[in-house]
Amino acid sequence: MRKEEISIQIENFQKRGEKFLPEPICEEILTSYNIPTPTAYLAKNREEAVKFAQKIEFPVVLKVVSPQIIHKSDAGGVIVGIKNEEEIKTAFDKILENARGYNSKAKIEGVYVQKMAPPGREVIIGSIKDRQFGQVIMFGLGGIFVEVLKDVVFRVAPIDKEEAREMINEIKGLPILKGVRGEKQIDFDSLSAILSSISQLVVDFPKIGQLDINPIRVYPKGLYAVDARIILE
Ligand code: ADP
Ligand code: MG
Repeated sequence: MRKEEISIQIENFQKRGEKFLPEPICEEILTSYNIPTPTAYLAKNREEAVKFAQKIEFPVVLKVVSPQIIHKSDAGGVIVGIKNEEEIKTAFDKILENARGYNSKAKIEGVYVQKMAPPGREVIIGSIKDRQFGQVIMFGLGGIFVEVLKDVVFRVAPIDKEEAREMINEIKGLPILKGVRGEKQIDFDSLSAILSSISQLVVDFPKIGQLDINPIRVYPKGLYAVDARIILE
């Protein structure tokens, strides 16, 4: 999507009073900023889910897509490691059942069929719009590191790649990214580049009130943004 198209999309959602951009749109926006995401398609029924999984190749992940379900796992709305046609049919039904059980009023737009990202080290990148500072970008390690240890750093956006690299160097958990017990160092170059791109993205679209990319899986070479959430002001 070009910038103008993204702006139009954002305005349309705001006009309809919708605050959360659906995951497929968030991923399209990330793609426009050269941020790699696993291949994915939105399936409206089981047959489509099977067809898409065959196209992108197993293993895949299924995720519920609903404006009323923001934290998908809390609703039992994410099933990972689906290996074949049999499993995907069962998982598709299970996701819909879980979503309805979680919120019977939730409007389900479909089920996202996404390629599995290989295991890697997980980081998060987020943004919040501060009344005083404007768009502020956050970086930290994912999982328990953010939830329990709050090992995160902030900068006023936008930041260039060098500033992004400095930001990454400030987290306490840096040795985990450098590699412990024989692990290879992660791809700091790609990570700094996307941190800078995301800081530019939120500056380009001031109507973004909050952005959460959690997790991003980072490898010795390359990375994938596995889950993205954009909340409008
Ligand atoms: P939410 O944060 O809304 O609960 P996520 O999309 O982050 O949903 O999925 C929950 C978890 O499932 C992620 O933290 C990640 O561990 C795993 N996961 C999600 N998508 C993938 C994927 N494409 N490949 C591998 N693991 C995934
Ligand atoms: Mg997530």
